[in-house]
Amino acid sequence: RKGSVIITGASSGLGLATAKALAETGKWHVIMACRNFLKAEKAARSAGMPKENYTVMHLDLASLESVRQFVDTFRRSERPLDVLVCNAAVYQPTAKEPTFTADGFEISVGTNHLGHFLLSRLLLDDLKQSDYPNRRCIIVGSITGNTNTLAGNVPPKANLGDLRGLAGGLNGVGTSSMIDGGEFDGAKAYKDSKVCNMLTMQELHRRFHEETGVSFASLYPGCIAETGLFREHIPLFRLLFPPFQKYITKGYVSEAEAGKRLAQVVSDPSLSKSGVYWSWNNNSSSFENQLSKEASDAEKARKLWEVSEKLVGLA
Ligand code: NDP
Repeated sequence: RKGSVIITGASSGLGLATAKALAETGKWHVIMACRNFLKAEKAARSAGMPKENYTVMHLDLASLESVRQFVDTFRRSERPLDVLVCNAAVYQPTAKEPTFTADGFEISVGTNHLGHFLLSRLLLDDLKQSDYPNRRCIIVGSITGNTNTLAGNVPPKANLGDLRGLAGGLNGVGTSSMIDGGEFDGAKAYKDSKVCNMLTMQELHRRFHEETGVSFASLYPGCIAETGLFREHIPLFRLLFPPFQKYITKGYVSEAEAGKRLAQVVSDPSLSKSGVYWSWNNNSSSFENQLSKEASDAEKARKLWEVSEKLVGLA
């Protein structure tokens, strides 16, 4: 049978390119889990994805109720779940004030981390039940969360501190809207959320890989300087960022190339190892990359897990 993969945020950028790469092989049915149903349907059509190889299902990660509803709808479709890809993200580098999810969490961490945290925890049961030989759960990371790299050291740097803001509910009411309890900074909130993504992947690996056989992985696909992620940045940045990445840092990848990379992590038998953070060399060969000290801190990962469980209502 075809493999069955859920990709969150498949309506643009990396998610769409990955959905297309997988659907075109004819070996995968892609469930595009998107907040804007029409946009996703149009994107799939204009990318030329074969109709029989995808389904759009509504998911708004900025609402825990929507995450639970998505899981119900998916289960009613009676499709197996072989691979889950947590890809969607918001990035608000120029926001002066925080905005919040339906449950009152600062929106970058609420969407990118807490929404995906609940989704992956609920769908772990479905991954367990699949008879597919290579069951995987992939959470897209980022170099911006890696303070052991040049790009990860551009201020403001990611830093979760002692998680006091997160433990306080991240709601900006009386407590901070930032994980470390500091002043709101949209760019930092995004970076913090990506560190959470990478810590969650490793904690999932520690808790569930042996027992379930599911592989957990994260990746940095390269700098895809033209995706919608930068839509809220100032125009001059959007003009200069792609050539800067192409010619100066040489970290630039096209959406299509990045999509192929993530599709590899979904389906390539040689990338089935669990607990790995994948990256690619300039010649497009994959390797197991190192994470920064904070993004590989097992004690912090455990604490993040426990606080996140409370916030999403699992504990
Ligand atoms: P895009 O903005 O193009 O795609 C983000 C996707 O997330 C969109 O489909 C968007 O939906 C969706 N999304 C946003 N909020 C929600 C929500 N509340 N519920 C459901 N879906 C939502 O950005 P990219 O393709 O660049 O980003 C994809 C991933 O790649 C992210 O995890 C990002 O951190 C990561 N990444 C990107 C890099 C880059 O250079 N671009 C580098 C490293 C990592 P909609 O279409 O409705 O807006």
